[in-house]
Amino acid sequence: MYDIAIIGAGINGSSVAYEFLQENKKVIIFDKNAIASGGSGAAGAFISPKFSKTGDLKDMLNEAFVYSMDYYKTNFPNELSISSLIHIAKDKSQNETLRVYKKNTALKLLNIAHSYQNETVCLRTGIVDAVAVCQAMCKGALFVKEEIKSLVYGDGVWVLNESYCAKNIILANGAYKQLIDEPYIKVYGIWGHRIDIRSSTKNEYILHQEVSISPSKECILAIGATHDVDYDPDTNKSYDIQKGRNELLQKAKISIDLQNVEVIKDYTGLRSGSVDYIPFLGSIVISKKTMKNKSIYFETKKANYEVYDYYPNLYMINGSGGYGFVLAPYLANILKEHILNNKKIDNKMNPARFFHKWVKNLSPRERRKYIQK
Ligand SMILES: Cc1cc2nc3c(=O)[nH]c(=O)nc-3n(C[C@H](O)[C@H](O)[C@H](O)COP(=O)(O)OP(=O)(O)OC[C@H]3O[C@@H](n4cnc5c(N)ncnc54)[C@H](O)[C@@H]3O)c2cc1C
Repeated sequence: MYDIAIIGAGINGSSVAYEFLQENKKVIIFDKNAIASGGSGAAGAFISPKFSKTGDLKDMLNEAFVYSMDYYKTNFPNELSISSLIHIAKDKSQNETLRVYKKNTALKLLNIAHSYQNETVCLRTGIVDAVAVCQAMCKGALFVKEEIKSLVYGDGVWVLNESYCAKNIILANGAYKQLIDEPYIKVYGIWGHRIDIRSSTKNEYILHQEVSISPSKECILAIGATHDVDYDPDTNKSYDIQKGRNELLQKAKISIDLQNVEVIKDYTGLRSGSVDYIPFLGSIVISKKTMKNKSIYFETKKANYEVYDYYPNLYMINGSGGYGFVLAPYLANILKEHILNNKKIDNKMNPARFFHKWVKNLSPRERRKYIQK
């Protein structure tokens, strides 16, 4: 019997494994392929905040950035390389955004001499070795290469694939098929491509404008990433790798004059996102059971999530978009505190927010039909 069974060994699942291993819990982690074989294995794993004026996502990412930089430095120093970042505005409107950002941020900014005409923000950030850090986080957990197809709950225990027993389940399966079929949980896949190149051009900083470019190490630079909402690997459409490479190189050349370029490796994968771009973190509402409860009034603007029915001891961590490596350590810690110490998860991340919106939009007839289905 495991204390925690995690489905998906990307950066989210691996960060959760690490949190619970630190608490001496018995952890089993499943992946249908290898550790970091999904979106996480494709990531450039640049750790940076969000350079916008305001917003919940910006606030969350800035907090997560500070938390995660410190976390990687302390726990995984060998998998983190620290560098200075020059974030360059793309256009006039971003010049203004960066000016406001610089005026209001509490982060320590740097003064780096450069020749960019557009506004810039400079600070110390880092890049993580994506695969190595996930592998290091999972050390001490039992890793099983197996696709989880069934989850059954009874007598306080979850049974996975009719073979493995656990007290708690963490769904960390990224943009792949969701294991709990609830109509209000919509996880979107956003295809991305990044490359490693060899170039005679030396680059000292992390540059971020249309794409992110790593400092050069032995003439190798990482460039990422594209955001392709139309390409879906499940539909078997073949992906045009040359087109992706051209897009990345064209965008990189806006920030740096790259000479003698040779693409040496391609990485592709799916990021997962939510409709409001905020991650999903926490328990999952059982929609039918909750809707059958006649004492709950769904028309309200401010719902009370505490009265809903939830799948017992089952949690999700997903929807980190292009910031999985910034968010995962921070989110995994919040989830652990929730499970072990009953600390409340901010409603902004609670998957129940989507249930409330979904049910409110159904007519009484649609609700009745859904419950009877
Ligand atoms: C090209 C690219 C560049 C990126 N660059 C950055 C960056 O610079 N910085 C940053 O912070 N983020 C970046 N990201 C985003 C980041 O990679 C994602 O946010 C992160 O990988 C999400 O992690 P995850 O653990 O949720 O999902 P994933 O890494 O996709 O992991 C989910 C895992 O679940 C497994 N799985 C699914 N279903 C099952 C099942 N039923 N049974 C068993 N296993 C299952 C899959 O095999 C997969 O390994 C980038 C993403 C891409 C694609």
